[in-house]
Amino acid sequence: LLAANGTVAPTVFAEMSALALETGAVNLGQGFPDEDGPREVLEAAREAIASGVNQYPPGPGMPVLREAIARHQRRWYDLEVDPVREVLVTAGATEALAAAILAFVDTGDEVVTFEPSYDAYAALVARAGGVHRTVPLRFPDWVPDPDELRAAVTDRTRVILLNSPHNPTGAVLDRETLELVVELAHRHDALIVTDEVYEHLVFDGRHVPIATLPGAWQRTVSISSGGKTFNTTGWKIGWLTGPAHFVTAVLAVKQYLTFVNGAPFQPAIAAGLDLSHTYFADAAAALAAKRDVLVRGLDAAGFTTAVPRSGYFAVADAAPLGASDAAAFCRELPRRAGVVGVPVTAFVHPDRRDSVRTLVRFAFCKRREVLEEASARLASLS
Ligand code: PMP
Ligand code: GLN
Repeated sequence: LLAANGTVAPTVFAEMSALALETGAVNLGQGFPDEDGPREVLEAAREAIASGVNQYPPGPGMPVLREAIARHQRRWYDLEVDPVREVLVTAGATEALAAAILAFVDTGDEVVTFEPSYDAYAALVARAGGVHRTVPLRFPDWVPDPDELRAAVTDRTRVILLNSPHNPTGAVLDRETLELVVELAHRHDALIVTDEVYEHLVFDGRHVPIATLPGAWQRTVSISSGGKTFNTTGWKIGWLTGPAHFVTAVLAVKQYLTFVNGAPFQPAIAAGLDLSHTYFADAAAALAAKRDVLVRGLDAAGFTTAVPRSGYFAVADAAPLGASDAAAFCRELPRRAGVVGVPVTAFVHPDRRDSVRTLVRFAFCKRREVLEEASARLASLS
């Protein structure tokens, strides 16, 4: 969080990955895959570099990628998006989030998120001078209370910032909640900014973008990224889609953040977005199998685990193992058991950390043998 002097502490992910390196522990902290993505995508990046796609791309992104994003929105969601005016390529979803928050949130404007939430949200809202209001998602079901959502959104709300599929919980917001968000955004004249980076990593059923709901498109900015879908988290190719006037406002901020980014990776992610349905289905099924390995391991070690419906992460309660403070537990865990996890307190405002005091997030976007090794190590805890 932004401290009074304007500094930001190192993220929990940087801290925990450093601890993993230092101790030789299995790193189930930071969410990144330990295997490369599809050959076609890697090959397309190599080809782009070899054929000279190495200078500044156009500000809104290369046409080949913006067109592939528009095709992707049509193919998966039946959304018609104009690749020229309604798509912006960004340096990962992170820059899309930053530029959108900076574009839309003025000093004193309120931003509503669910909580826990991805750590960048609170920091970005604070950086923009906004006021962060939250609606709790409670372990182990993570289903928001509609009355709490209604109470959080008021005429002071500028943005409702959603993340479904959700990090850190793996929750997927149900249709009723999405409908209520749209209704509240209309009633209070708020914008919806939706972070859907895990859109293709839903284990049962299909992802429903809020932008597809009746009345949503005109006030929604949707954000995604190639990192999770194609195992290319280090490439930082993200994007934002929405009505042209929003895209223009976000581009105005982006041009002075990074200007442009990732030229040779843009056609490569475009190639990825055009892959067959089989690629996407297989990737989700492979990840669901990894989830099962980790959840079994956590349960066998004595944690109580909320089975995630999507994404990279499982949240487990360490209270049955005698933990009373997940942050302290996670600091000791590498030396005690040779595994790194992240305390869910890192995703919650300091004043509300009691509600998640004993919860730990573990990443399962790792090779099966790595998850099995982590499970064997965790078994030594009980
Ligand atoms: N949003 C969420 C919910 C995430 O989990 C992540 C990845 N850690 C991001 C945004 C950032 O995505 P990118 O790497 O594309 O910037
Ligand atoms: N999204 C990943 C996570 O939640 C990585 C984030 C990061 O390193 N900033 O672990």
